Amino acid sequence: MTSAQIIDGKALAKRMQAEMGDRIAQWRSQFGRAPGLAVLMVGDNPASAAYVKNKELACQRIGMQSFGQHFPTSVTQAELEQAIAQLNQDDRVDGILVQLPLPEHLDAIALLNTIHPDKDADGLHPYNMGKLMRGEVGLQSCTPAGVMQLLQTANIEVAGKTAVVIGRSILVGKPVAMLLLQANATVIMAHSRTEDLKATTRSADILIAAVGKPELVTRDMVKPGAVVIDVGINRITDYEGNSRLVGDVDFEGASQVASHITPVPGGVGPMTVTMLMHNTIWSYCRRYGTAYN
Ligand code: NAD
Repeated sequence: MTSAQIIDGKALAKRMQAEMGDRIAQWRSQFGRAPGLAVLMVGDNPASAAYVKNKELACQRIGMQSFGQHFPTSVTQAELEQAIAQLNQDDRVDGILVQLPLPEHLDAIALLNTIHPDKDADGLHPYNMGKLMRGEVGLQSCTPAGVMQLLQTANIEVAGKTAVVIGRSILVGKPVAMLLLQANATVIMAHSRTEDLKATTRSADILIAAVGKPELVTRDMVKPGAVVIDVGINRITDYEGNSRLVGDVDFEGASQVASHITPVPGGVGPMTVTMLMHNTIWSYCRRYGTAYN
């Protein structure tokens, strides 16, 4: 039995993408071109291929131009750097994204740092991370920005609330904590070395799980009435050999005590792709001196 209100990321993503599509149609006639996103993929990791396809389909749906490039596993660092340098110069491209993870012989951090900060669709460049840290306007990492959109759309009051973020990665944990702080939450970061995770999570009015451990957060770790945002995406196989996606939160258990909860799939995931489109449009509008929020 679920008593929590479900925060439907799929529906919000659909609404936001439809609105982006309408605005792109207007801008195309105004500025003579649509925003463009280049997704670079290396090798043939099936999960990465699925994510890239998803992003390309989202581009197509909203009328954004897609400049995807697919490289063999044997590609060198220098070849990728050259491809990024060309995209940095290409006026049709507003956003560049390198699909991670990369094969071992490549230095992902060095590569991400060669993306021009104004085209950093993933918001992971140190320049944009620095802006986030300083509370300045800039490109924000997609998943954390998606989490904030979900909270806003569900009318969750963040200011003054205690927010606990489990996970301290550059991709999710750290930037989402900074965004919550900017929204005036009292933020606690929990991680693999936190001594009493349950006591920490039970203090949360807003609990964000970004760990990568299937159903780590159980019902007894959630304060009654808390808002639970599950960022985790984990594939598990049950005893009958059927595989399915689950989050970092035991949805069945937690939804009996939480006031609001995001499902997996259909919660944060669709928002990540949507915020990637949002960032690309944001950069495009900036180049034309048009505001976009
Ligand atoms: P990561 O492995 O880089 O970081 C995991 C974090 O969890 C670490 O900081 C670690 O300290 C913490 N941690 C590990 N074990 C813990 C434990 N037992 N107790 C408390 N903390 C613990 O992972 P990531 O890139 O931040 O991703 C986290 C999860 O979010 C993954 O499941 C990933 O697939 C998912 N993810 C989803 C989206 C999306 O769009 N929904 C986007 C990015 C990542």
